[in-house]
Amino acid sequence: MKLYLASGNAHKAAELQALATSGGLAVEIISARAVGGMPPVEEDTGTFVGNARKKALALRAKLPADAWVLADDSGVCVEALDGGPGVESAYYAGPQGDSAANLAKLAAVMRDVPEGRRGACFYCLLLVAGPGGAEQVFEGKCEGVLLREPRGGAGFGYDPLFVPTGYTQSYAELGDVVKGQISHRARAWAELATWLRKRTA
Ligand code: IMP
Repeated sequence: MKLYLASGNAHKAAELQALATSGGLAVEIISARAVGGMPPVEEDTGTFVGNARKKALALRAKLPADAWVLADDSGVCVEALDGGPGVESAYYAGPQGDSAANLAKLAAVMRDVPEGRRGACFYCLLLVAGPGGAEQVFEGKCEGVLLREPRGGAGFGYDPLFVPTGYTQSYAELGDVVKGQISHRARAWAELATWLRKRTA
C-alpha cells in the first residue's frame, strides 16, 4: 500500500518509512516533495483533527482519486493552562514558529506554578484520508509533568521541559531510543500500524 505523507518535512517521511519497515508492514511512505511539494495550508481550525484533515485533503486534491494520504498534528497540552498551548504549540511564542522561543515562554509561564499543578500531556493525532471521503483517525498520548528549567540536549521542541510519568529524566535527556518507545507519536503510530497490518494482510 502507498501512503502519501502530507508534510513538508522530508525527515518525517524517512522516519515513518523506517517504522513501517521495521514493523514488517508492506507500506511505502511517499513524501509530499516526491509529488511536487506540500501545498501551503493554514493550520487555523483550532483542533488537532481539523488541522490534520486540512493537510491531508490539501495534498490529496493533487493526487489520483484512489490515493491514501497520511497527515499528523501534535502538541503539548498543559493542565494549568487549560490544555494550552495544545493545537497552538508550534506558534506559542509567535507566528514565526520559533521552537527555542516557544520552550522559553512555556518555562517562564510555568516557573511559579506549584508542584501538583504541573501536569502535561503530549498528544499526537494521525489521520488517514482515502477514496470516497474515507477517513481513519489514530491518537497517541504521553502523560507527564513539566520541569521548572529545561534539561537535556536530545529531541526538539518542548522535549527538555517534559518528564514522562514513570521517569525522572526529560524527553530530551531520555533520548531518541527511549522516546521512540513511549512517545505520543510512537503510540499513535502503533494504532495506525495495527490498522495498516489488517489492510495489507
Ligand atoms: P507538528 O505536529 O509537527 O505541527 O508539531 C506541533 C508542535 O508541537 C511542534 O512545533 C512542537 O512545538 C510540539 N511538539 C510536537 N511533538 C513534540 C515532541 O515530540 N517533542 C517536543 N515538542 C513537540
